[in-house]
Amino acid sequence: RIGTAALAVQVVGSNWPKPHYTLLVTGLCRFQILQLLKEKPYPVAEVQQLDRLEQFTNGHKSEEELGELSEQFYKYAVQLVEMLDMSVPAVAKLRRLLDNLPREALPDILTSIIRTTNQEKLQILDAVRLEERFKMTIPLLVRQIEGLKLLQKTRKSKQDDDKRIVAIRPNRRISHGSITEDEEEEEDHDDVVMLEKKIRTSSMSEQALKVCLKEIKRLKKMPQSMPEYALTRNYLELMVELPWNKSTKDRLEIRAARIVLDNDHYAMEKLKKRVLEYLAVRQLKNNLKGPILCFVGPPGVGKTSVGRSIAKTLGREFHRIALGGVCDQSDIRGHRRTYVGSMPGRIINGLKTVGVNNPVFLLDEVDKLAKSLQGDPAAALLEVLDPEQNHSFTDHYLNVAFDLSQVLFIATANTTATIPPALLDRMEVIQVPGYTQEEKIEIAHRHLIPKQLELHGLTPQQIQIPQVTTLGIITRYTREAGVRALDRKLGAICRAVAVKVAEGQHKEAKPDRAEVGEGEDCKEHVTEDAKPESISDTADLALPPEMPILIDFHALKDILGPPMYDMEVSERLNQPGVAIGLAWTPLGGEIMFVEASRMDGEGQLTLTGQLGDVMKESAHLAISWLRSNAKRYQLTNASGSFDLLDNTDIHLHFPAGAVTKDGPSAGVTIVTCLASLFSGRLVCSDVAMTGEITLRGLVLPVGGIKDKVLAAHRAGLKRIIIPQRNEKDLEEIAAHVRRELTFVPAACLDEVLNAAFDGGFAGKARLEHLNSKL
Ligand code: ADP
Repeated sequence: RIGTAALAVQVVGSNWPKPHYTLLVTGLCRFQILQLLKEKPYPVAEVQQLDRLEQFTNGHKSEEELGELSEQFYKYAVQLVEMLDMSVPAVAKLRRLLDNLPREALPDILTSIIRTTNQEKLQILDAVRLEERFKMTIPLLVRQIEGLKLLQKTRKSKQDDDKRIVAIRPNRRISHGSITEDEEEEEDHDDVVMLEKKIRTSSMSEQALKVCLKEIKRLKKMPQSMPEYALTRNYLELMVELPWNKSTKDRLEIRAARIVLDNDHYAMEKLKKRVLEYLAVRQLKNNLKGPILCFVGPPGVGKTSVGRSIAKTLGREFHRIALGGVCDQSDIRGHRRTYVGSMPGRIINGLKTVGVNNPVFLLDEVDKLAKSLQGDPAAALLEVLDPEQNHSFTDHYLNVAFDLSQVLFIATANTTATIPPALLDRMEVIQVPGYTQEEKIEIAHRHLIPKQLELHGLTPQQIQIPQVTTLGIITRYTREAGVRALDRKLGAICRAVAVKVAEGQHKEAKPDRAEVGEGEDCKEHVTEDAKPESISDTADLALPPEMPILIDFHALKDILGPPMYDMEVSERLNQPGVAIGLAWTPLGGEIMFVEASRMDGEGQLTLTGQLGDVMKESAHLAISWLRSNAKRYQLTNASGSFDLLDNTDIHLHFPAGAVTKDGPSAGVTIVTCLASLFSGRLVCSDVAMTGEITLRGLVLPVGGIKDKVLAAHRAGLKRIIIPQRNEKDLEEIAAHVRRELTFVPAACLDEVLNAAFDGGFAGKARLEHLNSKL
């Protein structure tokens, strides 16, 4: 007949689909029912308040009487609460409540919190006298305390079984549900303390230290099961690991640097010269806020490997950051820590990997940065690459500034066209052009072949690749500006030879199989050249008679298959309407055959070969110029009329059809090709040309002359028509290449046509013109 009077604070719930309500009440006091007045629709009764009365009437007296009992109760309660995890906010609050609440309220509150049966709870409710209530609750508290102690003991022994983490986590969760179990991972606590110590002893900047200490404070209060705990911890660990003040000492000596660069790379004089200048200035002036070097050139010309050599000469760590296809600025600058799975950007990650704050960072393929909805990574790079700003580079994840001014940045790109202007402006571009055939042969014999031999476990005593073979590979199996495909082909040859050598070893095990093969001289070569230390173990294998295996053209064909590229140039110019142009691509220069044909029609021009707008316009320009000059050059359509498009359609095609092309530099080639078509004369098959045209027939300068000239040289062409104003660019071309080619500078289309056709074009045309007049 005893109940609790309460004030309804909130009613939540609904009638649908089933009546379901939650009632939130605040208990006020106990009461006793004196008389039930009515039961329906809800019970109404006359009641009498039972407790909280004496508090006002004879509070003092009861306090004294109960003093000892309540003190005892309080102690137990404190003991119990302190066994729980104080970092859980609810426990901390409970601890405060114990001190703030009047003592006589404690039995009621604790009974509702600790693990008790309903029956026990009702008994406490029934105990009207305070004294009685204290007495009844104390055993419950003691029981709970004992239970907890037991649990801790068992857990300790479990931890010793090294199942620590597995054991802790589930228990944690239980203790959250009903604050009945404890926690307190001393281990973890130790870890956090260790971390704090590391933070204090690390040499991070003041600002970073402040942030870290704040975070560690938060970490200490945070229950481990919170996702944020792991995040914060990772963050702090990264902060400790970063090389705030750790650097390698530069050992810079220009002479040594020159030797390293020369040893590692053949040719590329201009690049090496600029790099040495840069290093020299560094030597003279410490902490140089130098320009950022950007090597621009076709793939496989050694941009990356020069970067690596620079790190080597400086004695610095090297780290390559590939930027190709990066389209999210947080790749550079990190994600804010509020995001799930956030992490630092590549710059900070790289610093963590190398562990020093002055590495050489190679930003590979800056021209292939993409833009997307996630922002522009190029813009993020601006801050990284600006020597005036990068001493306080702020990664979003770190959220504190990190000094990048000691990092030496080198960028590489295939073309400057796609590098955003602002970024380009911060870098010093050094062009790395493609190699000539002679250079490639030298590179192959000095660097690539020895490297491949070592990779495949071969020795020069086992395989010989003469220079003519290398030239064969370069001209017939590769067509590139760099040496990467050449390197791969050499690798393929080494693999094939490795099989032979391994078989040879096998054969050698049976001595009777030894046959005398070609070349006594090879044997001599072996005995002379073999290093003394290798004789003992490898000489035996190197000596089977057929060694060294000589790679000649037959062997090449066997290993690499039939040649992929022919010297096809002269063959393809055996009919009018074909001319050879020179194109520049990010992969180096290329020769391009422009083909034209005419047929009956209504004067339409068809262009194929994936042309860009500028190129299409060049084609229109060319046709217009030819039409306006048709009489002068005696150009006629199929029916002999000077109106070239009268009843005629023209089709221009630029192979290879699948490669997109654009740019104005094909102008002169189109004119020549059409002039050939309409005059019925053949263009000289050893001439290539490049140049932009205007309606007046002028030839304007174009870019990429060096790459184009090298491409023409590779293809075995002899004469190159270039715009007159591009003559100065020829100086950059190696003397021996220049010697093998004839350059025809042309200022107007007259000169182009004269040079492109045997015996000249315009002159002859004029003569015919006069003749016809007569
Ligand atoms: P890139 O970065 O320009 O695309 P890499 O630096 O990766 O090219 O070079 C490709 C390969 O060619 C490397 O193994 C490099 O050693 C070699 N290589 C390129 N140029 C030279 C050179 N001048 N001397 C020696 N090896 C070279």
